[in-house]
Amino acid sequence: MFGGMQDFELRVPRLIDHAEREHGGRELVTAWADGTIGRTNWAGIARDARKLAQALEKMGVKKGDRVATLAMNHHHHVVAFYGAIGMGGVIHTINPRLFDEQLVYIANHAEDQVLFYDKAFQPIVDRLKPHWTTIRHYVCFDDGAFEALLDGEDGDYRWVEGPEREPCMLCYTSGTTGNPKGVLYEHRSSIIHAMALIAPSCFDLAPTTVALPIVPMFHAAAWAMPFAGAMAGVKLIYAQVNDPVLLCRLMNDEKVTHSAGVPTVWLSMFQHMDATGIAPKYLKTITIGGSAAPRAMIERLMKMGIRVGHAWGMTETSPIGTIGAPPARWDEMSFEEKVDLVCKQGRVPFGVELRVVDDEGRPQPRDGASSGQLQVRGPWVIRQYFKDERGDCIDDDCWFDTGDVAVLHPCGTLQITDRAKDVIKSGGEWISSVELENAAVGCPGVAEAAAIGVRHPKWDERPLLLVVRKEGASLGEAVVRAHLANHVAKWWLPDEILFVDSLPHTATGKLLKTALREQYRDHVLASVAAEAQAAGAQV
Ligand code: AMP
Repeated sequence: MFGGMQDFELRVPRLIDHAEREHGGRELVTAWADGTIGRTNWAGIARDARKLAQALEKMGVKKGDRVATLAMNHHHHVVAFYGAIGMGGVIHTINPRLFDEQLVYIANHAEDQVLFYDKAFQPIVDRLKPHWTTIRHYVCFDDGAFEALLDGEDGDYRWVEGPEREPCMLCYTSGTTGNPKGVLYEHRSSIIHAMALIAPSCFDLAPTTVALPIVPMFHAAAWAMPFAGAMAGVKLIYAQVNDPVLLCRLMNDEKVTHSAGVPTVWLSMFQHMDATGIAPKYLKTITIGGSAAPRAMIERLMKMGIRVGHAWGMTETSPIGTIGAPPARWDEMSFEEKVDLVCKQGRVPFGVELRVVDDEGRPQPRDGASSGQLQVRGPWVIRQYFKDERGDCIDDDCWFDTGDVAVLHPCGTLQITDRAKDVIKSGGEWISSVELENAAVGCPGVAEAAAIGVRHPKWDERPLLLVVRKEGASLGEAVVRAHLANHVAKWWLPDEILFVDSLPHTATGKLLKTALREQYRDHVLASVAAEAQAAGAQV
């Protein structure tokens, strides 16, 4: 047959070439930790990335080698992404909030060759240098060393070519048990994921967008913002420190229209807004993901006229799996209905497929009621963990078990009800710890809450709710209980509510349920103790 189409390998450097050519003047702005503001643009990023690629080659970095970063958000970090990938390397973003043993394990497992790091993490570097066995070069991003490295090069460089299925980025999951696992992204998967991400029904990115991603560049592939931003010609604003005062000022000074982050960042933003009366004025769209966004948060943002895209995903899914966008009947829906919908985790973009299966692996109907294990597949979903001798982590039909428990609604909307290991199993029925927590944080005076199952002689497990009060709040158990009674089924109500000063978190800001379960493993519910005592008294 005559006819046909052209082809080119879908490689990440094409993104920066595109951004340089088509959106070269569009700015990237960084608020550095020392209080200064740095500015460059996509043409500047492209130029510096070529220089960095040259410098990395001089350091002896070869195609496929891992180049690590231990850094917050700034435009030098973006240069490192494109420089390392452009010379055929694999950018490996390390999460500085991990424990020392994990940081040692990850860098050695990845066989990192070079480490770019923020001055703030110098103590980590000094402490762990003797234990990192493969890193040969250390370059600080923000003490002049990075610029000096670039100044030594002329930027006359052609990106390394190769097949689109080659790796370009490595990201380890925070893993609450066992060793962290590496997810290796490919050029092709990164590009098609970014293409899906910029769509109006997803992150809604365009040349008119001014985005301030609060999600750290080391979490879940930076939610693809360095790639999607270049693709759409977005103006990117970065803050090296996550301080709500600074973030809010930047949002107003730079007229930020889009932002993205985990729920906790919006909680601290609210506290700042309440204390000062200052709010971000230009925000139109916020993407929240990483853990379930509480209803009260969604409601408040929507009342500010902001479109909230509630996203679900994981490091293993690049990370976008689903995201909420207004459905066709949006304008006919009441505010309450809209909030109800946004509280759920949205729908898949083209490329992702979801299903929910029961304990025997049987697919469940999309009826908004059948709950089960969530499975996912698609061209930007993991096939095998990095250097994992056990082989593929998917079944014969490519389904990957997410470890999440979910319900699918008839319209395709996903509702995450829990992590499989976090559900509380009471008398054979499941209680969603996430829903209990979300209901609890909706109670005025509650800053944070965690629900875990503790042993119960009759019901197997019953919920224990741990609550952190907001500063200055003095609420007691009765108030929280009364609030919960309006939001969850009676049999879901916690058997006990304990007030604590703080809760443990993982390195990516999620509640560390494993630590809580361990801490309260032998906890005897007051009601159980009282019953045992009464029984003893009767004997
Ligand atoms: P990570 O790979 O560290 O980003 O963790 C992925 C996990 O975070 C998922 O498997 C979910 O358990 C959880 N998660 C991410 N987004 C959401 C969301 N919108 N609602 C509830 N859980 C979420």
